[in-house]
Amino acid sequence: MIDAIGYAAKHSFSRLKPLIFQREPAGPGELEIEILYCGVCHSDIHQVKNEWSNTVYPCVPGHEITGRVTRAGAGATKFKVGDLVGVGCMIDSCRSCASCQEGNEQYCEGPNSFLATYNGPMLPAAQATTGANMYGRDNTYGGYSDVIVVREEFVVRIPDGLDPAAAAPIQCAGVTTFSPMKHWGVKAGDKVGVIGLGGLGHMAVKLARALGAEVTAFTTSADKEGAAVALGAAHVELEKDAKAQMEKMAATGGRFDFILSTVPEKHDLNPFMVLLKRDATLVVVGALEPLAPVNNQQVAFHRRSVAGSLIGSIAEQQEVLDFCAKHRIAPDIEIIPIQEVNAAMKKVEAGDVRFRYVIDMTSLKEDREAV
Ligand code: NAP
Ligand code: ZN
Ligand code: ZN
Repeated sequence: MIDAIGYAAKHSFSRLKPLIFQREPAGPGELEIEILYCGVCHSDIHQVKNEWSNTVYPCVPGHEITGRVTRAGAGATKFKVGDLVGVGCMIDSCRSCASCQEGNEQYCEGPNSFLATYNGPMLPAAQATTGANMYGRDNTYGGYSDVIVVREEFVVRIPDGLDPAAAAPIQCAGVTTFSPMKHWGVKAGDKVGVIGLGGLGHMAVKLARALGAEVTAFTTSADKEGAAVALGAAHVELEKDAKAQMEKMAATGGRFDFILSTVPEKHDLNPFMVLLKRDATLVVVGALEPLAPVNNQQVAFHRRSVAGSLIGSIAEQQEVLDFCAKHRIAPDIEIIPIQEVNAAMKKVEAGDVRFRYVIDMTSLKEDREAV
């Protein structure tokens, strides 16, 4: 067994604290990876606080991982020891259902869906007492740790030219915003709206801009206006008096081909619906919960759509990394030691981050020496 150290929440209102635990060594087709960096996604906070009512404790979050391969299990040939690699939100899936066969592992139709990088069983708490899941493993522990073991098909290559620390958030924030843009065909010349300028939203602005779109950022934070322009937004709209402002915008033309909402909680989509062109789609990736009702008159009369989207496939994860390297874009990050992760999570909740915290995992050595 591998002696690992990570930061874990013990219950829904606990701070993250050091946890020593064991991981299975790399089995056939698996890779052992030394974790170098891990991004702090807002999903980590939802999960730690059990806001999706499915957290299994102890919970070691983290699914924006950059690391180095330290050992390859039997038959694992995709990478060699020393390679710089990435791991995102999935470390396995059933690999046999239609979605998996089509390369859409994030929509795995197996009984437990894909195997999440952390909180793997994804079972209702009442059924999760054993911690076992369909893959025969215990609850998975994520990237706020020094080592992880992953099936090689779920590991991606960090391309040359990408800073390893900045590459980490591309594994979730990058692919989650890139995948719907690809699926709904965002292209050069399109007008794209991005709601919420956090970890996901700021990547959405950069990616849409690099795809050649004219981007409008919708933000609740007046002090992000300058930053939004620096990220590549052609226009910035403050979401103050949203309804009146949007109706005015809609009346003066300038409707959108695609709008992406990254807001992490229930919010009113109606002011944004009126801004869509005929046949255009507003995709919600932020709030994974029941949303306020949408006025179907605004939807039906213009054949508009409201849709959701979940992370992205492994192929898309590789594609967005390569896309970022090619277009020389990367998340704007602030590197922190793991000992500051609780304070960082509070700042993310307060919207006080520009734009993603990334944990330097060498800082875990301090806790290792202390135990
Ligand atoms: P984040 O860094 O906290 O950014 C969210 C941004 O939304 C904030 O910076 C803020 O931007 C805006 N916002 C926050 N509260 C708001 C409110 N009440 N009304 C309007 N705007 C608000 O979070 P993140 O890491 O980007 O994650 C965003 C959400 O996506 C989380 O809920 C996360 O769980 C989810 N997520 C989903 C997927 C998926 O597969 N669908 C994948 C990853 C993450 P402004 O200051 O600009 O307004
Ligand atoms: Zn995430
Ligand atoms: Zn499957």
